[in-house]
Amino acid sequence: MKIIRRWKLDLKQLILLLVSAGIALAVYSALMASYRVHERAFIKDTLDANQAYAKKLATVTELFLQSLNSQLRVSAGHIAIHFDDSHAIDVELARLLTQTNSFDSLVVINAQRKIISAQPSSLALKGLTVDPSLSLPIELQQPHILDPFVSPAGNLLVSPTFPIFSSDGTYLGFIAGGIYLQGDTILNQLLGTHHASEHSYVYVVDKNKRLIYHKDNNRVGEHIQGNVAINAVLSGQSGAVEALNSQGVDMLAGFAPVSTTGWGIISQRALTSIVAELDLTHTNVLYSTLPFALAIFVVTLCAGFLIARPLTQLAQNVSSLSPGNLRCIDETPAWYFEAENLKSAILNSSELLGQEIRELEEDRKMDPLTKLNNRLAMQLWLDNVKSMHYQFSVMALDVDHFKSINDEFGHAVGDEVLCALAGVMKKNARSHDFVCRSGGEEFLIFMPFVDANRAFSIAERLRIAISEHAMPLSRPVTVSIGIACWPAHSKSIDETLKMADKALYQAKNKGRNQTCQAQLTPHAANHDVARHAV
Ligand code: GH3
Ligand code: MG
Ligand code: MG
Repeated sequence: MKIIRRWKLDLKQLILLLVSAGIALAVYSALMASYRVHERAFIKDTLDANQAYAKKLATVTELFLQSLNSQLRVSAGHIAIHFDDSHAIDVELARLLTQTNSFDSLVVINAQRKIISAQPSSLALKGLTVDPSLSLPIELQQPHILDPFVSPAGNLLVSPTFPIFSSDGTYLGFIAGGIYLQGDTILNQLLGTHHASEHSYVYVVDKNKRLIYHKDNNRVGEHIQGNVAINAVLSGQSGAVEALNSQGVDMLAGFAPVSTTGWGIISQRALTSIVAELDLTHTNVLYSTLPFALAIFVVTLCAGFLIARPLTQLAQNVSSLSPGNLRCIDETPAWYFEAENLKSAILNSSELLGQEIRELEEDRKMDPLTKLNNRLAMQLWLDNVKSMHYQFSVMALDVDHFKSINDEFGHAVGDEVLCALAGVMKKNARSHDFVCRSGGEEFLIFMPFVDANRAFSIAERLRIAISEHAMPLSRPVTVSIGIACWPAHSKSIDETLKMADKALYQAKNKGRNQTCQAQLTPHAANHDVARHAV
């Protein structure tokens, strides 16, 4: 049988598809899971690192401011002694400016808001009176850090101050240090270097949300509104938050306050830089995974094909199966349980099928009631005989008055009688005799290599055996028999059968329960029969 292939996947294609899809899905899901886990870890690490860094800078800034305060205190004490000596004050300011390198400028302002000394002298501030609109900590008379402002010399600066008191406690004025916020300043050096991550940066706001330090120097002095991290740090909190910055960029910000000044230090990193880093990492992971995925693909594919092979071969062998030849199936290598099972199942069902076909073939040639050969079997037997050309004698038997048996005892009893008769005939026949029910209550018995005389005596023996056989009814059953021989009576087998039939009718006409033989003489026109007394 030829298998017509429609557009269906075969097992190998299916395995190829499954393996490819399985590996692609496995790699994809592993990468996605790794991506999610790393993303969360990256974000947490970045937030923690930024918070820690902001805290560290806040502490450093506090220490720096304390150091400035100490330096100003020492100078304030010295200036107080020489407050009337303008030159001595200038010398002290010059010393502080050059020796400590902590300030970009220094001024001394008296209680009347007049600048009595300024360094570097190039600023030309000496003698100026400070603008009354600029709020000075004169009233506080204690150390202070002025909010960022633009100095008369045009520099944006923050300024720590320290009051100057005379020995009798009279307030004389204050010394103010200037730390520039723009350009390459001390604050830049303090906050802009030594950061742990190249992607993070730091900015500092004063308590009025004004940038006093930013990596983009041009933004220094800018007021920042609506920034969650700034709002939190200026309320005195330290922590970390993922939030949009003032320019709408998603940031991971850590923050800490500088408590003495009310400043806030924010260290932050853009979320997109983490995504970019993760993308790069996972692209590398993908490239590293590919050889393994390829190896798994090849191994799985080979295993799949090995599994498919016995099934494919079995299917091919079954489709080219010839009746009675199961060898190709038996020889199909089936190396695993299910394939072996399938092979056995195919072999068993093929054998069963063959057996059923043989039985059907038998049934086709058998009379169902008497289990004798039927007319089809007789025809096949005669064809064989004809081709082999060996002679035979044939008996035509007919039950006498069978209709009356049916009428008297019923049809079922009639059937039983037919079966009993078949039994007697088979019992009396030799192994190579051919007994068949030719129809109704008529039978034919072919006896190879038996001549007319011998056939007659066999027929008589059978007739007597039947008449003496105990039948399932109250009276004996007899048969009439006609005999003819082939090719002695006719060269035609059909004609021989007709002659046996005519001899049978002869026996009937003569009174039944007897055997008649067709005439052997050619001129007897094949119709004369001789009656032999029993
Ligand atoms: P004769 O001696 O002339 O042969 O008379 P007969 O009654 O045997 O012959 P007839 O041809 O008149 O009747 C044959 C009967 O056989 C008629 C039919 O009902 C019966 N018969 C045919 N086949 C079967 C069968 O399979 N079973 C039974 N019980 N009866 C059958
Ligand atoms: Mg009849
Ligand atoms: Mg009859």
